[in-house]
Amino acid sequence: MADSKVPPTRDAGKVATLLDSPEIAALIAALEDTRWTGRPGYPIRAMVGMTLAKSLYAVPTWSRMVRLASEMDGLRRVLGGQVPSQWACYRFTAKLREHPDALRTCVDAVVAALAVERPGYGTVVAIDGSDMPAYANGQRYLYNHGPERERFSDPDAAWGHRSSISTRKGGGYYGYKLHAAACAVTDLPVAWTVRPANDYEGAEVAGLLDAVTARGARPEYAVMDKGYDASAVHAACMDRGIRPVIPLKRTADVARGDYQPSCEHGAWTFAGADDARRRTKWRCPSGGCAPASRWVKADRLHPLLPRETPRYRTTYAKRGAVEREFGRLKHDWALAPLRVRGLSRVALHADLTILARLAVALSDARPAVAGVATARAS
Ligand SMILES: [Zn+2]
Repeated sequence: MADSKVPPTRDAGKVATLLDSPEIAALIAALEDTRWTGRPGYPIRAMVGMTLAKSLYAVPTWSRMVRLASEMDGLRRVLGGQVPSQWACYRFTAKLREHPDALRTCVDAVVAALAVERPGYGTVVAIDGSDMPAYANGQRYLYNHGPERERFSDPDAAWGHRSSISTRKGGGYYGYKLHAAACAVTDLPVAWTVRPANDYEGAEVAGLLDAVTARGARPEYAVMDKGYDASAVHAACMDRGIRPVIPLKRTADVARGDYQPSCEHGAWTFAGADDARRRTKWRCPSGGCAPASRWVKADRLHPLLPRETPRYRTTYAKRGAVEREFGRLKHDWALAPLRVRGLSRVALHADLTILARLAVALSDARPAVAGVATARAS
């Protein structure tokens, strides 16, 4: 919560600190092993520095980043004295897409280090999807009342739906969706994936939770909005030892209202959960029935954390973390607007943006190493 109020430092000194962090230094070393050279011979360190600086300074395009870096003496020094050309930047991102393991290893290391430096990181995750309109013509029809557009400049994107926020109306959009599991304690992303906008959000939950646990986080709860209330999503959480916290969608079986255990004494009350056996215990309100309690199989109608409990309400209230983080990534880290086309380029843009965000959070959480940042930047 603390870092959501305090804006992170964003200057050449911070870029230098990130480049010198063990996690980013390991990425640079891994990429150097691939013997890539950004003709005419820009060092990998300078290319990674440009990539981090682009997110730190929230610059949408490489051409603007190159111009900005050329005007900033401090940043140019951090990059080794020479600002790479925008063409070198394009070639470098192509290189990153050819070596996804190097970037993935780096993200894994940053997430693991954050779990050490920020206690609570990853103990509760909030999952949601957010719209990323494509860098393409977003007009669905060729002209007013005309035929639907059939050819798009970004054919990987798809039509999806987004809900209204603030003064913007909800509705259809053409593009992608960023699916993310954000830490509900620190707001920081733990795992994410980019899909075409028409993908069903619930289908991404199992993969996100697998990525969360593969990175060493052991969340107790996964919090999601009503749109995720499906048996498969609840099962995906419980299969991984995580309690789902999802409001009840009014489906036919809910409308019938006969799913809650009850007797002539009234509705039975929740009396505990057995996570290992995936059962919840319910008790007759008067205790006059025999048996006075029974176990019910956990499912979306009988979740391990019942929706009637105060703990459910306080946990669900943490869902805002993921929406706040989407807003922050888009507005403060230049996740939006997209200036690349194609799923793999959009996914790389999201990866690099979130890596910069996490690397800064890690650097801010780490005890300062006196002298290093200032020495490089000055
Ligand atoms: Zn009874």
